[in-house]
Amino acid sequence: MTTDAATRYEAVIGIEVHIQLKTRSKMFCGCNREYFDTSPNSHVCSVCLGMPGMLPVINEQAVAFTIQAGLALGCTIPPFAKFDRKNYPYPDLMKGYQISQYDQPFCLGGELEIEVDGQTKTVHLERIHLEEDTARLLHRDAGGETYALVDVNRSGSPLMELVTKPDMHSGAEAAAFLRKLRQTMRYLGIADADMEKGGMRCDANVSIRPRGVTTLGTRAEVKNMNSFRSVQRAIEFEIERQAKVLDAGGTVVQETRGYVDATGETVSQRSKEEAHDYRYFPEPDLPPILVDEAVIETIRARMPELPGARRARFERDYGLTPEESRTLTDSRERSDAYEAAVQVAGAAHARPVALWFIGDVAKHLNELGVEAELGQTKATPAHIGELTRLVQDGAITLSTAKDVLDAVFETGETPGAIVEARGLRVVRDEGAIDALVAAAIEANPKAVTDYRAGKASAVGFLVGQVMREAKGRADANTVTDLIRRRLDG
Ligand code: ADP
Ligand code: MG
Ligand code: ZN
Repeated sequence: MTTDAATRYEAVIGIEVHIQLKTRSKMFCGCNREYFDTSPNSHVCSVCLGMPGMLPVINEQAVAFTIQAGLALGCTIPPFAKFDRKNYPYPDLMKGYQISQYDQPFCLGGELEIEVDGQTKTVHLERIHLEEDTARLLHRDAGGETYALVDVNRSGSPLMELVTKPDMHSGAEAAAFLRKLRQTMRYLGIADADMEKGGMRCDANVSIRPRGVTTLGTRAEVKNMNSFRSVQRAIEFEIERQAKVLDAGGTVVQETRGYVDATGETVSQRSKEEAHDYRYFPEPDLPPILVDEAVIETIRARMPELPGARRARFERDYGLTPEESRTLTDSRERSDAYEAAVQVAGAAHARPVALWFIGDVAKHLNELGVEAELGQTKATPAHIGELTRLVQDGAITLSTAKDVLDAVFETGETPGAIVEARGLRVVRDEGAIDALVAAAIEANPKAVTDYRAGKASAVGFLVGQVMREAKGRADANTVTDLIRRRLDG
């Protein structure tokens, strides 16, 4: 919003997110769920092709994943849930209806804490339900004649739909919500939630209202965003557009709008359907589901540590700052790798290990891409732990360690092996260092005169000369001591 519009209007945003679950098979049949990079219509059967008379069977893993997501987000898990038919006439639906959940979903309520501009806030959830994904339509143009191809591989894949309360007030908040949601799903290991690949798809409901007003304005629902960035841009554009409509004395129409990435604008697509347009009714081919306490407890027991808890634990147990802890718990892989490295280095060196990960290791990973993890490289957590140990024990200098790390990433050899093979150990033998000190003093009479004249920096100069001769492998404190001893003696 322009500052002017922002002082007069408050934006209100609620989002609906579809997340593909990483189950082995589809939602109601045994077909392989993978559809990305598969040959079209190779993962299909009479159930997901919607043949008449075929009966669906509920995928228990998908139900467990949905309940796990609900527990992670603090939802209530009602003891009774059911599936419903949602009817609509698009060609991407094989049966002519979608099996979804209407009034009795698996999860109700819940919340997710987000951080925007250093401020923490809570986004409340309405519900989470489970449904099946649609087929993919591939639009083609054969010299002006357009047609669509249908790939049914995605059809019938388990899809979790999560709806928030209208709790957000800017594009940045919506993007932060989605980032945190993706992080949570990945920690749980139930979804990749990758927006670019369609594993997480978001519709943003956007309205504005004059500041001070508590009722909601009329919303537009914006679709087609395929990155966090585009979600933020689409919402920001939409807020601005609605402010202009109201400023011109017009009214916002309730409609579905599509985001156009190339222009950063939203364009009208169709007027909004109402629930009654879908003619929902209970799915007669599936039994209702009783979710008893024992089932919930079994699922809860399998729950991994979530990012917030892990971050707090890292701060507490490893003496990290909140920011260091946040960086290291960004992804589950990274935090696992960090802890594995601490195991090798020893808990006493937990913070130095963290600094390696945040500093030089991150630099190496960034060269591979923003989401790169150690697992994609030749370096292992044990290597980082060992390297930290070598530095902390004084076996190699920090600058040598950086070279060793480069070599580890390049060759996959252990730091210890690299240090031995290249003779990189710090020279501790005082006799050997003292010989270099004597030579440096001999070769630099001016530094000696300067020192005697009270110029302290002369020592630093001589240390530099010795270190250069020692190729950085001499212990700097020993060198300094020996120089002083000779000059003062
Ligand atoms: P539908 O399923 O028809 O899209 P819902 O009532 O389920 O409608 O709402 C969908 C989303 O829209 C929810 O995230 C909700 O918070 C949000 N929402 C509803 N009304 C508004 C509004 N006036 N402004 C912004 N968001 C809204
Ligand atoms: Mg909607
Ligand atoms: Zn199938």
